[in-house]
Amino acid sequence: MNLLIMGPAGAGKGTMSDMIVSEYDIPHISTGDMLRENVKNNTELGKSAQSYMIAGKLVPDDVINAMVEDRLQKPDCQKGYLLDGFPRTLVQAEAFTKIADKIGKPVESVIALEVGFDTLKERITGRRICPKCGAIYHIHTKPSKTEGKCDACGSDLVQRKDDTVEQLKVRMDEYEKSTKPVIDFYDAKGVATHIAADRKPEEVFGSIKEVLSTLSK
Ligand SMILES: [Zn+2]
Repeated sequence: MNLLIMGPAGAGKGTMSDMIVSEYDIPHISTGDMLRENVKNNTELGKSAQSYMIAGKLVPDDVINAMVEDRLQKPDCQKGYLLDGFPRTLVQAEAFTKIADKIGKPVESVIALEVGFDTLKERITGRRICPKCGAIYHIHTKPSKTEGKCDACGSDLVQRKDDTVEQLKVRMDEYEKSTKPVIDFYDAKGVATHIAADRKPEEVFGSIKEVLSTLSK
């Protein structure tokens, strides 16, 4: 099962990815993790990527593409993969199509999570995190037992600096500009499914399972 998951920050990509991974036994692959792993293991690609990162530059597409090609051929991808955060641009999507065809793992389904601005605003501005242990709360949907304090370690909860309406607008514009063409690209291939993500996680996952049940194993 070769899958891509797309959606703006706050759409619940992380939660859905966890649910997909445990249901279908395929690895969740994000470009961030992939980069960190290559740097940590000091691979040739990792060294190359790091030279750009140290210079404060974006890691170029050919380095990222090579990492993806390498990663998807690891033994844990035998049953497929769930790619998250890649391809991020139309250029990457076109390059990735060639790579995926070359290694015999073409994308079968693209899950595009869709959420309205108001829902995202509510999710993001209500989010509180524990700076000490990383626990995540939400003032309405997942409040801590004592207001402003972490259940797990008692630390004062904080709001992430970029969890503001202004930053959300910037991120949404950015997402629209770069990712919309990628989703259009997969729409044209007939493999994308748009899923309303402003629902409870179990309901969203129910819709995803319905889509995936139509894929051959
Ligand atoms: Zn904590």
